[in-house]
Amino acid sequence: MASKNQIHVGNVPIGGGAPVAVQTMTKTETADVAATLAQIKRVAEAGADLVRCAVPREKDAEALRTIVRESPIPIVADIHFNHTLALKAFDAGAHCIRINPGNIGGPDKVAEVVAKAKEVGRPMRIGVNSGSLPAHLRELEYSNPVEALVTAAVEFVELMERLDFTNFKVSMKSTSVPNTIASNRLLAERIPYPLHLGVTEAGTKWSGSLKSAVGLGTLLADGIGDTIRISLSTFHAEEEVKVAWEILKALRLRRRGPELIACPTCGRLQFDMDTVVAEVEKRLEAYEDPIQVSVLGCAVNGIGEARHADFGITGAKDMGMIYAKGEPLKKVPTAQLVDELFKEIDRYYAAGKTLVRDDASAAEAAQWLAENEDATAMTPERLAAMEAAAAEAEASVEAEASAESEAASATRLDEAVSPVAGRRFTRA
Ligand code: SF4
Repeated sequence: MASKNQIHVGNVPIGGGAPVAVQTMTKTETADVAATLAQIKRVAEAGADLVRCAVPREKDAEALRTIVRESPIPIVADIHFNHTLALKAFDAGAHCIRINPGNIGGPDKVAEVVAKAKEVGRPMRIGVNSGSLPAHLRELEYSNPVEALVTAAVEFVELMERLDFTNFKVSMKSTSVPNTIASNRLLAERIPYPLHLGVTEAGTKWSGSLKSAVGLGTLLADGIGDTIRISLSTFHAEEEVKVAWEILKALRLRRRGPELIACPTCGRLQFDMDTVVAEVEKRLEAYEDPIQVSVLGCAVNGIGEARHADFGITGAKDMGMIYAKGEPLKKVPTAQLVDELFKEIDRYYAAGKTLVRDDASAAEAAQWLAENEDATAMTPERLAAMEAAAAEAEASVEAEASAESEAASATRLDEAVSPVAGRRFTRA
């Protein structure tokens, strides 16, 4: 259930059925305009729809004038404790102000910020954090932290409504994943306003990404949540954006850039697939189109599982195969698999997103596969027959290939990153 209401932060619609917006927060000193803008540009390139900047001092609010003017994406000013900074941030052009009504100095101060928001016609985010709930909810927080969070959020929403202001979204953050899920489920039933989702202080890139994927993914899969921010302990804010996109892509809520499918490998593997996957992932960064590319250690069942991939490779000891939509294109020496895969991808784009197939090469690859793989495997031929009836009309959209495969340096993995000992191949 997407939120009923919709707001606009700059030109980005949030809620009311709009695509789930990706946001992050700069980690620079906001008053350092050059560093902040450089980071904003990096997160925008990574796919952030909007970005928040901390505004703890007057000089940070002042810096927003330049930042808002030069930023490629809308700016949300993050204000705590000092409502005059919120007023100044609006004057500086901030597209949205985030405040926690519980720490901004009382209802009168909130009313002043709301009056300013109305005057400039800009939205607000009201944010509740488990770590800073109003004093009268502390006892409830111990006995029922979920109800405490929801109560705080609803009280703030009612305050906004008494001020005749509805141009806002709401966030309710907790470090606890179960509490984040439970509280947002409850709040989504009680209010029509857009919800900003996040697991606060989620942790490092590894643990924080997983916590966020579980917490936010659960809610998003239920249709709850209109914008997301992943909080990771890294200076590289673009990493947060990449994780957010992976969550949205995994749920098929939004599409952006290629999707890499790779098998986990097992005792059948006979070539250095880890290096191949790393290389393919790196080269795919040069593509914007949402193609699916699959890398499989062998053809046993794997091609069947990845038959919807636009392109794929499957390897063996010396030779491997390139396929498209589960059908073989050609066999190539394993060492050339990646280069040949990207040649096929580039040929596809150059032909206006049309697969260019050489029948002789395809037949040779199919024969090789039949001779080298398990007779019970889901071979491309069997899959092709299954797929024939359900062939999809391919969308013909203008293609643009910008791969820089020639310039890309080869990916090197060492034993610490990807152990070879005990596996069926060696690494040169
Ligand atoms: S595709 Fe082959 S190598 Fe990869 S996990 Fe499956 S059986 Fe193992």
